[in-house]
Amino acid sequence: MSESTLAQNLAAVRTRIQAACDQFDIEASRVQLLAVSKTFPAQQVREAAAAGLCDFGENYVQEGIEKIAALQDLRSQLHWHFIGPLQSNKTKEVALHFDWMHSLEREKIAQRLSEQRPASLAPLKVCIQVNVSGEASKSGVSASALEALCLRTAELPGLSLRGLMAIPEPTPDIALQRSRFRELAGLFTQVRATLEQQRPAAAPDFNLLSMGMSADLESAIAETPAGARVMVRIGTAIFGLRQPAP
Ligand SMILES: *Cc1c(COP(=O)(O)O)cnc(C)c1O
Repeated sequence: MSESTLAQNLAAVRTRIQAACDQFDIEASRVQLLAVSKTFPAQQVREAAAAGLCDFGENYVQEGIEKIAALQDLRSQLHWHFIGPLQSNKTKEVALHFDWMHSLEREKIAQRLSEQRPASLAPLKVCIQVNVSGEASKSGVSASALEALCLRTAELPGLSLRGLMAIPEPTPDIALQRSRFRELAGLFTQVRATLEQQRPAAAPDFNLLSMGMSADLESAIAETPAGARVMVRIGTAIFGLRQPAP
C-alpha cells in the first residue's frame, strides 16, 4: 500500500469518527483510535506513525514483539496494545513489551501478567474481554463472572484496570450492532459502580470501552456510556485487506 493510500484511508476513518460524534452528540475527545496492524509489516506501522497514529494493536505475540523491536527507535512515542487470545505460556512477552492488554479473560493470566510486569515499567493497562451475546468467538468472561474478575484484577500491583472490551459477531444490522455495544456499556456502568463502592481508588481509571471495528465503529461510538471513552480498533479501514492469519 502506498503512503498516500494510507493517508487517505486514515482521513476517511477520521471523517467517519467525527461524523458519528456529531450524529450521536459525543465529544470527539472521548473517542480514541487504535490502529490494528496485525499481519502488516513494521514499515507500514512506521508510515502510519508518521501520519500521526500512536496506538497500534497486535493479535499475535511473536509478530507483535518483532514489530515492537523493529520500531524500537519510535518506542517512546508509540503505545502497543495486545488484543488477541493469550496463552499462559506467552504472558511474559506481553508483560515485558506491551503497554496495554485488551483481551484479559482469566484470573490466572491476570496474576501472571502482574507478576511478570517489570517494576521499571508502568503497570500494564488492561481491559477485561467480555463475552456479550453474539460474541464472534468463545472468548471473553461471562457477564456473571465479570465483576469478580474486575475486583481481583484491580488488586494486582502490576496491572491497571482500564475498562471492558468485546468483539461481537459482525452483522450488517445496525440495531443489533448497537444492542451488543449497549450491553457492554451497561456492564461497564455496573462494574464501575461496584468499584466505586469496593475499590474506590481503582474507579477513576476504569473509564474505557474497547469496542467497534472497521465495519461497526459508528455503532460503538453511539453507545459510548456516560463518563467513559471509547477506543475503536480499526484494521482494514486503515491498512486495507489482510492476508490470512499466520
Ligand atoms: C483484527 C481485529 C480488529 C480489526 O478489525 P477490522 O475489521 O479489520 O477493523 C479489531 N479487534 C480485534 C480484536 C481484532 O482481532
